[in-house]
Amino acid sequence: MQIESNSVVTLHYTLKDNDGKLIDQSDDGSFLYLHGAMNIISGLENALTGKAAGDELSVSVKPEEGYGVKDPERIQEVPKEMFEGADDIQVGIQFHAQSPEGQEMVVTVTEVKDDVVVIDGNHALAGVDLNFDVKVIEVRDASEEEVTHGHVHGPHGHDH
Ligand SMILES: [Zn+2]
Repeated sequence: MQIESNSVVTLHYTLKDNDGKLIDQSDDGSFLYLHGAMNIISGLENALTGKAAGDELSVSVKPEEGYGVKDPERIQEVPKEMFEGADDIQVGIQFHAQSPEGQEMVVTVTEVKDDVVVIDGNHALAGVDLNFDVKVIEVRDASEEEVTHGHVHGPHGHDH
């Protein structure tokens, strides 16, 4: 059975950057997604179309088909006094903030200066080339309900 729209796909994957640094992995059979429903980044989804259980592939995904390119407008300097507990702010701290469009986003502190804190609202993987090693474990048809909801149900799927 080949992967097509409305297939439920179980994957093992390893994700590395261009330096070979491990970013993420799932090799315990717990990663499932609904194909064609934009559950995963488009670059990986496109590469999996037509594959079948047992297939192994290596996929390199550019930022444009991954988590996007870095948007310089999402990097800002904020006066330190805007932060509660400003003395404790360190590089790497993440918090939730509202984007100018009103969406919730995760912001990372990238630099702490005397009077200002530099924050970056880009996705942590924005601008990063993504190198996946993927093995297709299982492919099945989605149920009508899964197709309607746009995600996978059952063990390791959406629970509701
Ligand atoms: Zn559902």
